[in-house]
This record gives sequence, C-alpha cells and structure tokens, in this order.
Amino acid sequence: MSTPEFVYNGRAMRVVFGCGSRIHIEREVHTLGARRALILCSEEQRALGASVADQLGARAAGVFDRATMHVPVELVAQARTVAASLDADCVIAVGGGSAIGLAKGLALETSLPILAVPTTYAGSEMTPIFGLTESGLKRTGTDLRVLPRTVIYDPDLTVTLPVGLSVTSGINAIAHAAEGLYSRDANPLTSLMAEEGIAALARSLPRIVAQPNDASARADALYGSWLCGAVLGSVGMALHHKLCHTLGGSFNLPHAPTHTIVLPHALAYNADAAPDAMRRIAQALGHDSAAQGLYELARANGAPVALKEIGMLEEQLDQAADIACNNAYWNPRPLERGAIRALLQRAFDGSAPTDGL
Ligand code: NAD
Repeated sequence: MSTPEFVYNGRAMRVVFGCGSRIHIEREVHTLGARRALILCSEEQRALGASVADQLGARAAGVFDRATMHVPVELVAQARTVAASLDADCVIAVGGGSAIGLAKGLALETSLPILAVPTTYAGSEMTPIFGLTESGLKRTGTDLRVLPRTVIYDPDLTVTLPVGLSVTSGINAIAHAAEGLYSRDANPLTSLMAEEGIAALARSLPRIVAQPNDASARADALYGSWLCGAVLGSVGMALHHKLCHTLGGSFNLPHAPTHTIVLPHALAYNADAAPDAMRRIAQALGHDSAAQGLYELARANGAPVALKEIGMLEEQLDQAADIACNNAYWNPRPLERGAIRALLQRAFDGSAPTDGL
C-alpha cells in the first residue's frame, strides 16, 4: 500500500507524564524561564490550587480560583487584572477544560505562557483552540498563543474525579479521536494516536468504575486522553463536535455527558461514509461496530445515554437540528436536516444507534 500525501501539524509542547509528576511543577516553571506563576483553578479545586502554590513557594504569585464553564470574558478581565497586579510571568492551569480555558483566554490577551496540569480527560491542554463567552454567545477560535508550552499529566490528580465524570470525560476524549479518524485532515500519525487513545480509554474506564483509585487504570486513561487531545489539536472535527457545541452552547447542557450521549449517533450517521474509520474505531473498542460499541461502553459503565436525562427538552430538538445545519461545515456525509433531526430524536430518547439512518 502506498503512503498517501498528507500534512501533519505537530504541536510543539513539552509533556511530563507519570504518577506523582506534579513534584516537577517547580522545575517546569523554571524551564519556562518564569519566576512568578499565577495558579488558575475552579472554586471546587481551590485546595489543589493552594497546594500547588505551597509547593512552588517563592515562584507562586498567587491563586485565582474562579474558573467556570464557558470562560466568560468578564472572568478573563478579572484574571488579567490579578495577573498584572501580582506581576505574574506565567500561568499554571490546574483542573479540567474550564481552568485550562481560562488560562487560554488570559494567554490570548497577554501572551503569558501556560503550564497545564489537567485533572480531567477533556483534552483542551493539547489544543490551540480557545472558547470565550460574551453576552451569552460562545465563540471559538484558534491561536498558537493559547497552546500550553508544558503539560504535566499526573494520574494521581485524577483519582478524585468522580466515577460518573470519569466515564463521560473519557468518552468525550474518545470523541476527539473518533472524529479524527474520519477527519478531512486525517493522516497516518494522528490516526495511530487516535486508535491507541481509544483503546487505552476503552480498557481503562471499566477498571476505574470497578475501582476508582486504581492507579494503573487512572494512568492508562490519562495517557489515552493525552493522545485523543493531541488528535483534536491537530486535525479538524465534524458533525459530532458541531452538534455538541450547539447543544452545550444553545441549551446549556453539560459538556462531557452531552458528548457521551451524542457520539454513538453521530458515528452511526457517518458510518457508511467513513467505513475505514469505523473499522478502526470498532477494533480499538474491541467491538464489531463503532457506534454500538460506544453506546455499550457508556451504558455498561453507568453513563447517561439519553439527552432527556440531562436536561434537554423535546421541543428544543427542531431548533437544535436547524442550528446544526445552518452553518456549513465539513462532514464525511453531507448534512441532511431530516436525518439529523432523527439522529437527535434517538439521542434524546436514548435509543440504540442505527448505522446509516
Ligand atoms: P470542567 O473543567 O468544567 O470540570 C468539571 C468539574 O469537575 C469542575 O467542577 C471541576 O472543578 C471538577 N474537577 C475537575 N477535575 C477534577 C478532579 N480530578 N477531581 C475532582 N473534581 C474535578 O470540565 P471538563 O469536562 O474538563 O471541561 C469542559 C470545558 O472544556 C468545556 O467548556 C469545553 O468547551 C472545554 N474544552 C475545550 C477544549 C479546547 O480545545 N479548547 C477541549 C475540550 C474541552
């Protein structure tokens, strides 16, 4: 088989991986050439933010613990004022996509380097993509200034992630890899990362459900989420991410559960248009169908499978289908409003996915 032509966008960043690797935070701040780090985290993870500050000693400028979902621009402005008043020369984002998203908003305005210490599987730390919410509207963009310079993956910090969120966050990561396999920009390298990332998460999530503090399962899941995040950072996404963006942004549905519920149906929609990607996803899941395999992974591990379970109203489905079809974007199968409305209905009801409908 000949190697196809492709473009591979490798992202220049340093990754430090391993249980207990948070002990290297000070070394990594030093490696960045920084002296005063502002630590960003959510209110819920304030204790973790404070312990990172303790660990850093003189290199800690302070802790800003107000990170929330969707990165409101007002919050970025507050963080910017705090960073300036403390004379910070780098930011450390400790937490999930919300804390990392706040660091990105700050970096976009100040070019401060980011050291990310992710504690969920969302994958934002691997991408130059930012999201900001202004007057209720979320806009996203891409800018290399927001790409973290260094990422410390310490699986020990994920042990406290509740089991339910571990499963949905893990399937959120799988979504990046699954869409990466049929992306218009897919290439041999990202496809290898995608397959390995899906396999690592598919084998580790049931182990985490069985024993949430299983260190080797936590390490395997974080390794998988790194690879899936790297795929998201390198190639374009399609229908699934667009639908989840619509559902999260317009109907305020929770991020990771929404991804978990929609993914099997988005894959079923695209199944006939991307058979090779589906075969590779299925193989990585150890199942004979990509869509069905993901549906079963979610159900067997106690994750929600119906949008009605997470706050969506049936009367919102038409509007969701309209929004998803309004802005043109690439997808392996053309966007057909009727079929997308039917997809949303199945996701709403929690029905099993049906390939090609
Ligand atoms: P999150 O960061 O909002 O975290 C969810 C909750 O879990 C928070 O309350 C957080 O404090 C808590 N939490 C996180 N880690 C924990 C741990 N180890 N133990 C206990 N509690 C913990 O959720 P998320 O799913 O990580 O991120 C979602 C956000 O990230 C969305 O806004 C999404 O748009 C964004 N995102 C962006 C990108 C990108 O490339 N820009 C990629 C993925 C996600």
